[in-house]
Amino acid sequence: MAEQPTGGGGDCLFCKIIEKKIPSKIVYEDEKMVAFEDIQPQAPVHLLLIPRKHISGLLDLQPEEREEISHLFLTLPRLAREKGIAERGFRTVVNSGKDAGQSVFHLHVHLLGGRSLRWPPG
Ligand code: AMP
Ligand code: ZN
Repeated sequence: MAEQPTGGGGDCLFCKIIEKKIPSKIVYEDEKMVAFEDIQPQAPVHLLLIPRKHISGLLDLQPEEREEISHLFLTLPRLAREKGIAERGFRTVVNSGKDAGQSVFHLHVHLLGGRSLRWPPG
């Protein structure tokens, strides 16, 4: 997939999901973040957690975005519990750049669980 513009709004797929301009299965949202089901799940539970603010990836994180990021990670355990994967275990992944296969350039944390996950990843 081609790299998305970094400015947000316009052509960013996940900004459109936040704005509900394209449909998704949102499981949680608040003033700072949205969590929704991955369209191509790689495990029985596969959620994507994203800040409402358009941040294109980890390399673009700014100190003033600490609230967005900490809030997202503080909410993650609650979603893991609600999805029933907290006890058995789960994996959180942030792909960054080409070698990691990042395909959407709006920062997102994958939350995967519900099956035994191999390590190291491919
Ligand atoms: P990454 O490869 O880490 O950039 O992850 C992007 C993820 O977004 C992939 O797991 C895709 O399956 C997922 N994805 C792409 N389009 C959609 C969509 N419209 N709704 C939900 N998830 C999507
Ligand atoms: Zn965006």
